[in-house]
Amino acid sequence: MDRAELSIVCQQLGQPAFRGAQIARWLYDKGVRDFASMTNLPSGLREEIARSHSIFRCEVSAKARSADNATKYLLKLADAQTIESVLLPYPDRTSVCVSTQIGCPAGCVFCATAMCGFVRNLSAGEIADQVLTLQQDGGQRISHVVMMGMGEPLLNFDNVIKALHLLNDEIGIGMRRMTISSVGISPAIDKLRDLDLQITLAISLHAPEDNLRQKLVPVSRKYPLDELMRSCTDYTNHTRRRITFEYLLLAGVNDSVEQALALAELLRGSLCNVNLIPYNEVQGLDYKRPTRDAISAFRNVLQESGIEVTQRMERGHSISAACGQLRRRHISD
Ligand code: SF4
Repeated sequence: MDRAELSIVCQQLGQPAFRGAQIARWLYDKGVRDFASMTNLPSGLREEIARSHSIFRCEVSAKARSADNATKYLLKLADAQTIESVLLPYPDRTSVCVSTQIGCPAGCVFCATAMCGFVRNLSAGEIADQVLTLQQDGGQRISHVVMMGMGEPLLNFDNVIKALHLLNDEIGIGMRRMTISSVGISPAIDKLRDLDLQITLAISLHAPEDNLRQKLVPVSRKYPLDELMRSCTDYTNHTRRRITFEYLLLAGVNDSVEQALALAELLRGSLCNVNLIPYNEVQGLDYKRPTRDAISAFRNVLQESGIEVTQRMERGHSISAACGQLRRRHISD
């Protein structure tokens, strides 16, 4: 709940509305886990609200730190389901990668999360709570959030939008410092466009043509590239925000120079940049990471076509940083 909703609860309990803002501060600034700790509330209110409401916070079930200081968390929810989140400290900021669903219905063939199927959507509170929990456990203020963990955020649209508002209004993370990463659910991109948020939208393309894309990202059969690129153009025209196109490089699958040329052609004239992500190999899947030479040849083609290209910084390679791998290991243990 945000402070407006908490104020309504307080008013329904016969209390002044400002008590809602006080509760919000205890929850989101101090991160308390029970009403009894909210010492500036009248004790009667603390007892009454504890009878009618609960505070659900996740618990840290496991964590693994890589040599470069990225920490992957396995978090246990109130119903004992588990999700992954990653804390990524950089010299100038601290970022958290959060999950938006338990498992994922998108079915990407290279993904460890997809191998476990789809369980359920996360609530807005469960999404925002990952940031609070990692902020408390890591002892450092989170400045950036990427919705790039388990799940397809735009298939959990309402909860994701509410989580963005909770993170912005209650936890104080600027909209411009939050990124939604999607495989490209065109109707949801259109809805997002109309909300005019200042977030960054990242679209996972992974292939420059429909045949291969539909094999790699099965959910994209419903949203062919023509339709997706139309939604993306409308989005950038409306918001004037640049889209990041993510491209996972899989050796011998989508990393040829011809495919780089086709990608450059697809994106010609778009307000965008491309983020190349060399694949993190997943146990049980045959996909491989391309060679350094193949990666730079691909990158050169895009750059020579005038496209701005970044390559994802290698963080957490040694801790199975690709989403879903820690949870999968935990489930099979
Ligand atoms: S890569 Fe992302 S969208 Fe695709 S199955 Fe995995 S979690 Fe879902």
